[in-house]
Amino acid sequence: MNFEPLFFNPIFMDRIWGGTELRSFGYDIPTETTGECWAFSAHPNGQSVVKNGQFAGKTLGELWEYNRELFGNAEGDRFPLLTKILDANQDLSVQVHPNDEYAKVHENGELGKTECWYIVDCKEGAEIIFGHHAQTKEELASMITENKWTELLNKVPVKKGDFFFVPSGTIHAIGEGIIILETQQNSDTTYRVYDYDRKDANGNTRELHVEQSVAVTTVPHKADEYDVKVKTNGDLTATTFIECPYFSVEKWELQGSSINNQTKPFLLCSVIEGEGSIKKDSAVYPFKKGDHFLLPSDFGSFELEGSSELIVSYL
Ligand code: ZN
Repeated sequence: MNFEPLFFNPIFMDRIWGGTELRSFGYDIPTETTGECWAFSAHPNGQSVVKNGQFAGKTLGELWEYNRELFGNAEGDRFPLLTKILDANQDLSVQVHPNDEYAKVHENGELGKTECWYIVDCKEGAEIIFGHHAQTKEELASMITENKWTELLNKVPVKKGDFFFVPSGTIHAIGEGIIILETQQNSDTTYRVYDYDRKDANGNTRELHVEQSVAVTTVPHKADEYDVKVKTNGDLTATTFIECPYFSVEKWELQGSSINNQTKPFLLCSVIEGEGSIKKDSAVYPFKKGDHFLLPSDFGSFELEGSSELIVSYL
């Protein structure tokens, strides 16, 4: 039985489109183009490591492998989720991800990637690309090869606090000046449709995957309808943005104190604003913006106190 929250050290990834905004979370980022903070990751490209308690030094992947009881003995050959914070200092390439069936066959048993975004902050006038206007696969393919980007891509203005569900097969891109918290399936499989003809320092463009993109894109684009549910518990307001087969995601807004009961296989909690503490029996675990902690299966009843916002995800 483990009654401690597990705090994880974030991992930083340099990206050509990255910037320095992740400093606003209190992070000591390694470069001036740090695009991603991997908060909860058991992916081979970067594993989160526990920083406190009896599991200090263990990776999330090791805990999933050898201490499955922490996750309520949830099933699966790998930890199913990946949580990131992204700082888009420039437009990201336009991309699409495969579903599980396609990725399994074409990407060496990788998972597909359904993801979702909470807009933590953004510049005035910021936009994302979400979906497209082609009516058939043939039309999609020809609009891509003929570079008809303005007609093809659907742009959507965004503001702080917006939420987007991005199922596999959705053409998407995060625009310049946007910071998101992303919850996704544990996969790194991306097909790049368009990269704005950008060249790197050596004059090279990044590879595009037009054939795969056309194969996996949902045509015509379909925007899923979903109900947002809000419930209050003491001084905590919990907004459920999405419940899908891969994950559920909530925002917790805390202004005071709230008694809660952890009844899920596990909860992944990312602090995006303010600070507070978790009180469990006689122990107090403080947290602040930029912290990421997991509440394990047996955690049970606890009190949250403080003034804070968290994005919480679970299976
Ligand atoms: Zn994506």
